[in-house]
Amino acid sequence: MTDQRIFKATPTANMPSYEAARESFSWQDAQDRLDGLPDGHLNIAHEAIDRHVVAGHGEQTALRWIAKSGARIDMSYQDLQHLTNKFANVLRSHGLQQGDKVYALLGRVPELYIAALGSLKAGCVFCPLFSAFGPEPIAARMTIGGANALITSTRLYKRKVAAIRDSLEALETVFTIDGAVPDTVDLAPLMKDAATTFETAQTGPEDTALLHFTSGTTGKPKGVVHVHQAVVAHDTTGRLALDLRPGDVYWCTADPGWVTGTSYGIIAPLTNRTTMIVDEAEFDVARWYDILQSEKVNVWYTAPTAIRMLMKAGADAIGDRVFPQLRFMASVGEPLNPEAVIWGNETFGKPFHDNWWQTETGGIMIANYATMDVKPGSMGKPLPGITAGIVDVKGDTVTELTAPMAMGELALRPGWPSMMRGYLHEPARYDKCFKGGWYLTGDLAMRDADGYFWFVGRADDLIKSSGHLIGPFEVESALMEHDAVAEVAVIGLPDETAGQIVKAYVALKPGHDPTEDLRLDLMGHARKRLGPAVAPKDIAFRQNLPKTRSGKIMRRLLKAREMGLPEGDISTLESDEK
Ligand code: AMP
Repeated sequence: MTDQRIFKATPTANMPSYEAARESFSWQDAQDRLDGLPDGHLNIAHEAIDRHVVAGHGEQTALRWIAKSGARIDMSYQDLQHLTNKFANVLRSHGLQQGDKVYALLGRVPELYIAALGSLKAGCVFCPLFSAFGPEPIAARMTIGGANALITSTRLYKRKVAAIRDSLEALETVFTIDGAVPDTVDLAPLMKDAATTFETAQTGPEDTALLHFTSGTTGKPKGVVHVHQAVVAHDTTGRLALDLRPGDVYWCTADPGWVTGTSYGIIAPLTNRTTMIVDEAEFDVARWYDILQSEKVNVWYTAPTAIRMLMKAGADAIGDRVFPQLRFMASVGEPLNPEAVIWGNETFGKPFHDNWWQTETGGIMIANYATMDVKPGSMGKPLPGITAGIVDVKGDTVTELTAPMAMGELALRPGWPSMMRGYLHEPARYDKCFKGGWYLTGDLAMRDADGYFWFVGRADDLIKSSGHLIGPFEVESALMEHDAVAEVAVIGLPDETAGQIVKAYVALKPGHDPTEDLRLDLMGHARKRLGPAVAPKDIAFRQNLPKTRSGKIMRRLLKAREMGLPEGDISTLESDEK
């Protein structure tokens, strides 16, 4: 931890004074900045697109798509209005009504953005799936959510969906964006023929808009429910935490398969009337620097893993590129090392602004703001309108810890617009998140005497790898399906670039030998089932796994041993073998 500050002077920022903004902020004022629909209705897509067209900004570029090949397609707010209207009409013509669930399994292609916003216009619930998921996570998420329609590509359909299709009972229609294969509907001709007008569904502020899945330490992935009202927080945080201004060129590098790529890769940039850059390709040092320069990016929102990879490539990789338009850089998803903040300042003349939030919070909760001094390594301060605290939870008693640098669970006072409204079908799991008037985040943190928050770690066993939250249970379940596996435990180990990597410990059934061939076979099995983003990077064999007397595998102990750390309280340890 460091208290070395980077002093800032950005007097023109949207929030010139954090303290004054905290004093005067109200969520009602934030809502009043938006349009709304007649009779108290509210629809995210209206606020993101139609509102700006009505106000005369239809010609402004809303989305600039950069294909893997480097080709560019610009879509104005007017284009986006027409295309999303067309998509909403296609949904209606295939029987999809308000409240039905539309899933997307696509890379970062224009159709994904059109489908997201068109589904919202139609009043459907939109659920993005990460395209690097394997069939198992896809099937789990589509089953829990009861997907009624899916939009995907023929390649992804054949590789990942065709085999599980029969198990997806609610799934009526699969639209494919590049022709059709058996059991799918070719979207392009339908879009061509659909009308460019559509009356946006009269959704209420509390109607479900988005479904995002996040991992739990045990059990199935959790379907996090977000409502149209969330747009108030997306818009506000875009303005206050990311300093977005109308006309800005903005680049969020996150994939919409994860919540950042939706809240800040689709909604906030559009409600704030920016021009958003979408790059189809995966991370590449030279390409990223090219994009920052050639697109004249003003605001860049990225993640620690990417920043660390840029740092590794060294300043030489920048060459003679310059970024005079770059005004604000932010990072989210995992702890941002102080060195990365300082490197940003040395390299770009401005620090990365770390901010913190979760799928459940729907939007940024704690941030380093444009006008606030940055303390490298700190997540910053709570957003105006948000009360954050450090608490100690003992049974049903929650005590706020107010002493500077006291460590406890990071907690938030509930009630902001983008707060999840539930875990789908799991009210008890949802209720457990709230105690003593606080929403408990599951993260450990500290607050210093100046009110800055510092991340300490997760209070549970969840793994953050390259910014993706991975539940050990989902990985363990996939490995357990292998014939040779008797028991398995999955943990996250620190990694310089990815933050953490997934490692699995496997105990074999009698009759199976711990050979290199079997290890490779297990790795292949996991990749096939889970996809490369979730599968373990390493597998080790153990004769037994350490367990508590009640039979719970002690992942914490495996981790301590792997890292050479003290083993802590092992009084509940039952069986064991180091
Ligand atoms: P997700 O729901 O996938 O967005 O993951 C949320 C979790 O990511 C949080 O509970 C934290 O554990 C971690 N996280 C997100 N942002 C940060 C950050 N700025 N610093 C440290 N951890 C973070």
